[in-house]
Amino acid sequence: MNKSNVLINEARSIIELRYKKGSHTVGSALRTKSGKIYSGISINGLKLHLCAEWTAIGRAFVEGETEIESIVALHRKEDGSFEFYPPCALCRELLIKYSPEATVILSEAEFHKASDLLPSAWKK
Ligand SMILES: [Zn+2]
Repeated sequence: MNKSNVLINEARSIIELRYKKGSHTVGSALRTKSGKIYSGISINGLKLHLCAEWTAIGRAFVEGETEIESIVALHRKEDGSFEFYPPCALCRELLIKYSPEATVILSEAEFHKASDLLPSAWKK
């Protein structure tokens, strides 16, 4: 199994473990440059939505891992099937700030550098 398939399976596993209709429908998994893998799930409040990528990144940051090598997100549809889930603009900004060279997995055959997904991004 190649490295991207390991992350894809990890994202799928966290949704299967924590899926909750209307809230935990997206799972994300990332690999840090040190080789560790962290996963996260989406969290929906009444007005707030926290992306799965943010919870995965947050778990990595808590462990002192801020350099992301690659990341993927999957969405579980109501019929139980999965689809790749491209990062939203806020996730793209977060990735660019901390790991602009990170590989974002958009399908089994589509990979992009994070900085290419948000050209001309505002930098501070
Ligand atoms: Zn997002």
